[in-house]
Amino acid sequence: MSFKSLGLQNALLKAIEKQGYTNPSPIQEKAIPVILDGKDVLASAQTGTGKTAGFSLPMLQMLHETKHPKYRPIRALILTPTRELAAQIYENVSAYSAHLNVRATVIYGGVKPASQIAAIKKGVDVLIATPGRLIDLESQGALSLKRIQFLVLDEADRMLDMGFLRDIKKIMSLMPAKRQNLLFSATFSKEIKALAKGILNEPVLVEATPENTTATKVSHKVFPVHKSQKAALLIQLIKEGNWKQVLVFTRTKHRANKLTKKLIANKITAAAIHGNKSQLARTKALSGFKNKEIRILVATDIAARGLDIPLLPHVINYELPNVPEDYVHRIGRTGRAGAAGEALSLVSEEEQEYVRQIEKLLKQELPVELVEGFEVANNVVKEESVTKKQSNKSRGRSRSRRRNTTTNQEKNTKSRNRRRKEKRYPKKDIKKKN
Ligand code: AMP
Repeated sequence: MSFKSLGLQNALLKAIEKQGYTNPSPIQEKAIPVILDGKDVLASAQTGTGKTAGFSLPMLQMLHETKHPKYRPIRALILTPTRELAAQIYENVSAYSAHLNVRATVIYGGVKPASQIAAIKKGVDVLIATPGRLIDLESQGALSLKRIQFLVLDEADRMLDMGFLRDIKKIMSLMPAKRQNLLFSATFSKEIKALAKGILNEPVLVEATPENTTATKVSHKVFPVHKSQKAALLIQLIKEGNWKQVLVFTRTKHRANKLTKKLIANKITAAAIHGNKSQLARTKALSGFKNKEIRILVATDIAARGLDIPLLPHVINYELPNVPEDYVHRIGRTGRAGAAGEALSLVSEEEQEYVRQIEKLLKQELPVELVEGFEVANNVVKEESVTKKQSNKSRGRSRSRRRNTTTNQEKNTKSRNRRRKEKRYPKKDIKKKN
């Protein structure tokens, strides 16, 4: 299947070629003809599947082919949850529309609005926006949504997680009822289905991957480790693997900062990206990571949404997310565009329940690997799915192997850890925690 056979015109084919895309991705194959046909779309697609081109190529073609008043009212709105994703989509849309008579601009919070307002005033066909800034500028009279023909809700699940439901409803009330709607989401909760029902008109369902599953080329691994040993294990993995570009997730901004400092202290270049960082710091961290000046990008879930870092070989969950769907989002950044990737999780005893929830969601067991020197008594360890990773020092003595029996060393480690745990949590506390 070629892009041409999907019905795209030469000006777009030229831009696609310049991007180096040879064949459409599965989501593009499915979505492009349906959108060109004028239908609403409900698409299940995570970042990394090529979804941005999937919705923007046909939309740009239709905008190019339809007449517009001279002053260029905004005719297409792409709503995204985060500034980074908005900037990313703007970059893509600009590249795809290089040879078309279509103008785009992007607006988001965290920066002064003056230049955004000036860009809109000049006339734009496509506006890419985060909800807060959009409502802000609309209420100031700096923009109007009365001529919208296309609405794209990208990463709709994340928008709901971030509490944008009210904003979305308000934005909807500012647009004409007759328009083409495209909703993209990596996961499908009850809330997303309800939102879709309220917005979409007889949508065509398009799936890049089955609901709530991860890209097949991603291999998963769980490393059981004591909480206090996580940084040391991470540093060892990075150094031993000589990893050059790793995205590491923490649950909190504070932990992201702390871990970043620790990595830097261990001579590993790193930067944190989270909501407390200024837009400038976020952009700088992301570009440093993309051009490989920074090896490790430590991110919280929200900050990392939609980051487009092609061919990322490793994603590490320094802490597992407490919402299993977030695991799917996180690892959407590895194994991108058909390349293989590794999703590694450092799991402490307190996080074992999260592993089970993720396994339930993915309908797949996550293989466990023990790293010598970091073993813990951990019921994450399922006998049949364990391999043992040894440090460089001892690798010469024996190779990693499947584990059928508990070795003496592991028995010792288990009882040592049990003793430690009992010391930390006297019996009644353990019960309470469970
Ligand atoms: P997205 O899922 O939209 O964030 O896209 C993920 C990455 O895949 C981006 O770097 C795109 O430039 C790239 N991409 C999109 N479509 C294709 C394609 N058909 N072939 C190769 N790469 C693509």
